[in-house]
Amino acid sequence: MAITTNPIIELEQEHLVQSYKRPPFVLTHGKGVKLYDSEGKAYTDWVAGIAVNALGYADSGLTAALQEAAGGLVHTSNLYFTSPQAELAGMLAEKSFADRVFLSNSGTEANEGAIKFARKVAKDSGHPDKTKIVAFSHAFHGRTMGALALTPKEKYQAPFQPLLPDVEIVEFNDAAAAEAAIDDRTCAVFVEPVQGEGGIHPATTEFLQALRRLCDQHNALLIFDEIQCGLGRTGTLWAYEQSGITPDIMTLAKPLAGGLPAGAILTTEKVASHIHPGDHGTTFGGGPFVTSVACYIVDRISQPEFLEHVTEVGNYLVDRLSEINSPLIVEVRGRGLMVGMELSIDVAPIIEAGYEHGLLMVNAGTNVIRFVPPLVIDRPHVDELVDALTAILAEQGEQING
Ligand SMILES: *Cc1c(COP(=O)(O)O)cnc(C)c1O
Repeated sequence: MAITTNPIIELEQEHLVQSYKRPPFVLTHGKGVKLYDSEGKAYTDWVAGIAVNALGYADSGLTAALQEAAGGLVHTSNLYFTSPQAELAGMLAEKSFADRVFLSNSGTEANEGAIKFARKVAKDSGHPDKTKIVAFSHAFHGRTMGALALTPKEKYQAPFQPLLPDVEIVEFNDAAAAEAAIDDRTCAVFVEPVQGEGGIHPATTEFLQALRRLCDQHNALLIFDEIQCGLGRTGTLWAYEQSGITPDIMTLAKPLAGGLPAGAILTTEKVASHIHPGDHGTTFGGGPFVTSVACYIVDRISQPEFLEHVTEVGNYLVDRLSEINSPLIVEVRGRGLMVGMELSIDVAPIIEAGYEHGLLMVNAGTNVIRFVPPLVIDRPHVDELVDALTAILAEQGEQING
């Protein structure tokens, strides 16, 4: 795309650490599933701030919840009791396998906390060398030194070695490989029930059930990272519900507080009984402003009609994407509104062409277009997407074939 002279883009390029690559427009506002740039161009949003904006933009209920929360306490620290934090923990526990909740500020921080919880439980068991963590190929658990060690991508890890030691990476969805790796030295097994960044790969039910059995056998904690796939994204409130088993710990973040930064560690009484004052903490985590908005989000997303809509539109999305007749398409896969379209080519030019067609899309790895829209997206948006993608793929196919 043309080099732009937009002053906002110039300012960004002068003063921000250049850790992000961005398309040349500036987003200014949104309504429903549409975002608008400073030139007034509309984009249908298939990204949702990377699976964050579950209710889309300018949702009247969320706006009211934000306004009400803004009139109350914003921050008090975790030195004191405040009500929204306790209410949120109560809601999350009531709606899940968990008994207790620790609130953080982001996904990677929730995973760091989960690593610490697993280490503490293992230390308390009297086995000082029970420190190994097992994670899987294509996993994404975050960018901090512990979570990054569980994210086996050369480009992300190599410049920052050494990372957290004693991590073993095993082939995803391979129960036999997991069985060979998980042993009595293993304190935790981290897995995304549906892998997000790594390419939208759902774990099979048999694989998750095998992990549950192996963790029980070796006294390791089974930790589900539902930061992207949890909270309604796959059509059930929690992705684990579709596997017939429950984890010992589940981490959440992305949509939890309607776009405000928030993460959570959900766990059982058995695990939480090892965590005492001083073992873990955060200045901002669980603040009253963020958690009162999160209460609103969790309540909205957990309505049965809301979740049915996700399943219904998600199935429609997979069906319609599967109908596109292009030799570039390798596979369409996913659960609910967490869908990937794998191509035989790099998807970057497809995503760029999408901007011209008024579509925001994001990749998951080199070859997969990832669709993680606001959960309120509807069938007509799917039809519009499929028409545009059909045209874009045809153009790209022609360019490739000369
Ligand atoms: C986004 C993501 C993270 C990291 O969350 P941040 O809030 O960006 O730190 C971890 N795990 C999964 C599965 C994610 O999708």
